[in-house]
Amino acid sequence: MYCSECREKVEVPAEGFRLTFGRTATQAHYSFGCPLCGAAVRKPAGEKIVAALTAAGVRTMRLVPAEQ
Ligand SMILES: [Zn+2]
Repeated sequence: MYCSECREKVEVPAEGFRLTFGRTATQAHYSFGCPLCGAAVRKPAGEKIVAALTAAGVRTMRLVPAEQ
């Protein structure tokens, strides 16, 4: 896992991740707090990443349209 702020390779435990789903699969993102610089890093999550993070027990959050 690479931090997009400090560009260091960081080890983040499953508890440090959050997976966010939009209305479609292409809107999935994962985020984590960088243990080195403290930045909140958010990146698009492909199918493989979603599967890996879900299997690791990462917290997930589903975004629903506000008008519902
Ligand atoms: Zn960082």
